[in-house]
Amino acid sequence: LDPSVKSEACVLGQKRKKSTPKEAAVRKCLILEQKCSLPIFSAREKLIHQVNQNNTLIVIGETGSGKTTQLPQFLYAGGFCKAGKIIGITQPRRVAAVSVASRVAEEMDVEVGKEVGFSIRFEDATSSITRIKYMTDGMLLREALLDPLLKKYSVVIVDEAHERTIHTDVLFGLLKGIQARRSNSIEGKFREENGAEWKKTKRGDVTEDSKRNGNDQKAAWPHNQKANMFETSIEKEKDHHANGFLMEKSLSPLKIVIMSATLDAQGFSDYFGGAKVVYIQGRQFPVEIYYTYMPEADYLDAALITTLQVHIEEDPGDVLVFLTGQEEIESMERLLHDRISCFPEGTAKIMVVPIFAALPSDQQMKVFKAAPVGTRKVILATNIAETSVTIPGIRYVIDPGLVKARMYNPRTGVEALAIVPISKAQALQRSGRAGREGPGKCFRLYTEEAFHKLDDVTVPEIRRCNLSSVVLQLKALGIDDVLGFDFMDKPSRMAIVKSLEHLYTLGALTDEGKLSNPVGVQMARLPLEPLFAKAMLMSVSFKCSEEMLAAVAMLSVESIFFTPQDKLKEVNLAKLRFSSSEGDHITYVNVLCAYMGELKKIGEPQDKKAKKSLQNWCNIHFINGRSLKRALDIHRQIQGYIQGIGLELLSCGEDYSSFRRCLAASFFLNAACKQPDGTFRALASGQIVSIHPSSVMFGKKPDCIIFNELVHTNKHYIRNVTRIDPLWLPELAPRFYCTKDIQTNFLPDSQGQKPLQD
Ligand code: ADP
Ligand code: MG
Repeated sequence: LDPSVKSEACVLGQKRKKSTPKEAAVRKCLILEQKCSLPIFSAREKLIHQVNQNNTLIVIGETGSGKTTQLPQFLYAGGFCKAGKIIGITQPRRVAAVSVASRVAEEMDVEVGKEVGFSIRFEDATSSITRIKYMTDGMLLREALLDPLLKKYSVVIVDEAHERTIHTDVLFGLLKGIQARRSNSIEGKFREENGAEWKKTKRGDVTEDSKRNGNDQKAAWPHNQKANMFETSIEKEKDHHANGFLMEKSLSPLKIVIMSATLDAQGFSDYFGGAKVVYIQGRQFPVEIYYTYMPEADYLDAALITTLQVHIEEDPGDVLVFLTGQEEIESMERLLHDRISCFPEGTAKIMVVPIFAALPSDQQMKVFKAAPVGTRKVILATNIAETSVTIPGIRYVIDPGLVKARMYNPRTGVEALAIVPISKAQALQRSGRAGREGPGKCFRLYTEEAFHKLDDVTVPEIRRCNLSSVVLQLKALGIDDVLGFDFMDKPSRMAIVKSLEHLYTLGALTDEGKLSNPVGVQMARLPLEPLFAKAMLMSVSFKCSEEMLAAVAMLSVESIFFTPQDKLKEVNLAKLRFSSSEGDHITYVNVLCAYMGELKKIGEPQDKKAKKSLQNWCNIHFINGRSLKRALDIHRQIQGYIQGIGLELLSCGEDYSSFRRCLAASFFLNAACKQPDGTFRALASGQIVSIHPSSVMFGKKPDCIIFNELVHTNKHYIRNVTRIDPLWLPELAPRFYCTKDIQTNFLPDSQGQKPLQD
């Protein structure tokens, strides 16, 4: 357990302890009352029975019916944690995993990290006594690397299945395979090494059932090294028992529960071999929907005005505003505070609470706190509040109809973050949030005509994003035939082939398409995108692994600086202290170093005064304290992994050119050259891009750069940019660039200048 995690988990636990015994008793009663009034409560026995009867069960129920918080508790009480087994519940988002674990721990009157825990990337709050474990879907995939049969788990609940994140989709295939293999083991096909029940099976007596399952297992699991290892050990063991009986240890079957908030159960049921579907009767009050007459030019401005209007004109009730990301949420938070401070005295107060994926866990719980009487709570959320977390008290929903999504073009190999329209199904979910406890209102910041033009349902992520990370994980799981993997929705062949090519280019795959050792194996162990994992590995030979570690940690968080629009000059001045003329990566390293230095000065553990002084330091430098705190957590965690795989941490000191060379060697696919008009042309895709105003390179005109992020708004913007020497490209990525091509790209223009160099 990471010490920082322990302390956070403890914070969650301690918060409850502060209340007096009387307050605690009242709260307990309230929680019990809430639990009993949830729609799922009356289905308790039926659900336990159905999970007992069916190896796979699909549970459909409206958001707020109690699926996520209650079903694991039912199964816990129903005996599914016997013999130390765990009930795992996967969530697409980290915030949901943390907040739900904390809620369930409170309901069960235990501390987070004890019987109820959570595990998300860079944070683990579980212990040997954890029996109900909430985790991100990505984390369960990683666990399968170490425990291919997920032996610890009696039940895996895939929650929010309708979201169809790429990890959820891969989990579907994986769990199906594991379930088949574990069932086979019961028939005596596999044996286990450690502590479970043993059963007697007549030697060589393979039932018809297990033969059939054996075939199924082959279909679901392409040739697998791990499976071979099991079979070899069975053979050996057989020789040891000459009494006609073979002692075999059986694995309990894996129960799979798929939970979804939308009604399209058929697809899930078909995929899981006609699995049984149960419906939880929901409770939904009417929600009045309002559209705009005309399309809104600036949805943020529209959202701000609508929020204020609701506050002034509407009856009491909390407001939920859907925004697309941390930056938008934080700037809206500031704008709301500014506007409200100008309101005449006597106007009711507003309590603004943000919730987004990267919010540190100790701050996430604030959304669930009721506002003081007479104050209206305004929740600014990403689409996490669509179905993942149910926040009580909401009567008004403001929906700009947009979401930030990853978009991938397999033809060009370019992946970008883009703000795109939601689907009709999402719009319905969003408006539904206003009608959970009584009639509500939803203000859609688009026209009714625009609503009718929306797609009916969201395209699964696996059909629209870069598959490199997933393919690397499948390979690490021993699934070599990725094209033949049992996907619920198969990604395009081109997308798979492209990701195989990409991994091969990074050196993660051998000529035969197998995971390379050590590069591929090490890359799969680092909890980073393959490109960043490779950069981390390379940085050791460039003797700048400390700098790369800092850069990767900082690139894993959003919005390091905050930029109030009325203080642009001050922000730029403050940034100067850290900014490097070479680019954003070195700037980030400088910021993290300065932050760590400040922490050292203050000294840990931090008291209130120290926290305030740190916050002050962040404010003076326009640094986002939330983001830096998270970056530091990530830094600590990756450092642990790096040391775990035996890599050295080396600093390049003041010699940043080796760090920049390492960036060029790592991110050469994202190199771009300057165009005469000041824009840049990405060398690999040919796409024309511009440096984002938030970059320290904005307004500068380096000849050649690498970048880490492409954002589509009104333009194609690149962020996280560093200047490189174009001639490094053929030197460091000779398989991709040749000197001649680079010289042509950087040839003298019509005025006959010499080729450009660093
Ligand atoms: P579902 O998964 O069906 O959408 P949940 O189990 O998430 O439903 O929510 C059930 C109830 O628990 C809701 O009424 C919600 O308000 C409440 N709840 C969930 N998490 C928390 C929390 N962290 N704090 C307070 N209430 C919560
Ligand atoms: Mg839920």
